[in-house]
Amino acid sequence: MTETLDTNVRIMPSRGRRATRTTLFDLGFEELRARLVDLGQQPFRAAQIYDWTYQKLVTGYEQMSNLPAELRVSLAESLPMDALTQVHALETDDGETVKFLYNTHDGQLVETVLMFYPDRATVCVSCQVGCAVGCAFCATGLGGLQRNLTAGEMVVQAVNAARLAHEHGRPLTNLVMMGMGEPFHNYRETIKFIGILNDKHGMNFGARRITVSTSGILPGIERLAAEPYQVNLAISLHAPNDELRSQLVPINDRFSIDQLMATARAYIERTGRRISFEYALMKGINDSDEVAEELADLLSGMLCHVNIIPLNPVDVLPYERPETADIDRFAAVLEARGIPTTVRYSRGVEIAAACGQLRAKFQ
Ligand code: SAH
Ligand code: SF4
Repeated sequence: MTETLDTNVRIMPSRGRRATRTTLFDLGFEELRARLVDLGQQPFRAAQIYDWTYQKLVTGYEQMSNLPAELRVSLAESLPMDALTQVHALETDDGETVKFLYNTHDGQLVETVLMFYPDRATVCVSCQVGCAVGCAFCATGLGGLQRNLTAGEMVVQAVNAARLAHEHGRPLTNLVMMGMGEPFHNYRETIKFIGILNDKHGMNFGARRITVSTSGILPGIERLAAEPYQVNLAISLHAPNDELRSQLVPINDRFSIDQLMATARAYIERTGRRISFEYALMKGINDSDEVAEELADLLSGMLCHVNIIPLNPVDVLPYERPETADIDRFAAVLEARGIPTTVRYSRGVEIAAACGQLRAKFQ
């Protein structure tokens, strides 16, 4: 089955192929410099190209007016800039949330969301097509993992969001890895992606403005603690005991809550940074006062913050969002126990902007 969207881009069904193509967005600054030297070019061209790409946010080599014409032509051939092809951009009625749907060169669908707030503009980036973790309430995990995205396929999501934000007269200020996929199942490309965005020759995007969210892949948390980047870490907890968490987040069978907490404490000790725990609140599942008390016991005394995300229901899954009063009550129990808590409603429900939902719709 193929599907044609209104931009006339054909979407082929997934065949689980891997991306092997290298685009400009896949190259770190030093790699680009080495590549140019191999081509017999002056190394300073790398700084010019990074500036055009990540500061001036141009969309093609033809706009890089200080490069020799023949170099522009040969780079367009050898190092393309179309890491992803946009097939759709949906805006909410108030224009404050934009959802992008992209096609990869091998016919996979990828989602990105850009959210405008009064004081910031945040992009939510995907790192995989699908996800192998298979959380019970998540649309992304439904079809398993298709493939990892390359660093370049992640970078271009951020660059494209920055372009749109600039068109609205707004800088892109924050980035969260809370789209499709598990970043620590694609560790190497995720860190490379962060390095490219953070590079001072390019976007110079502050690591402190980047949040990496994991379902609790402990080796990934340990590796992140040793990286030079001061990124924020979010852990998707969703339950305070193993019995409940294993039902919701299957990776809990491999890494138990005790192990997760020990790793989280070690991370805080090593980095001095606060961890955010995400908690998707589901009616009748993990929203009782007893569960809130148990969660408070688990997190008490830790340098952390809880983000309650009232569930964004997925059509084919049985989980529901609690009533507002129950959401507030759950948050109040945590607050009363001294756990810093925020309720974060997901944006763009009417454009299926929750994790994996737009892609699921188009498939
Ligand atoms: N795989 C990573 C990051 C992507 S998901 C992770 O799981 O942390 C980002 C966040 O959205 C996670 O906390 C995830 O549990 C949550 N999420 C997924 N589906 C959701 C839904 N239907 N409603 C609310 N939150 C959801
Ligand atoms: Fe994967 Fe995160 Fe969805 Fe779980 S919530 S299936 S880890 S994307």
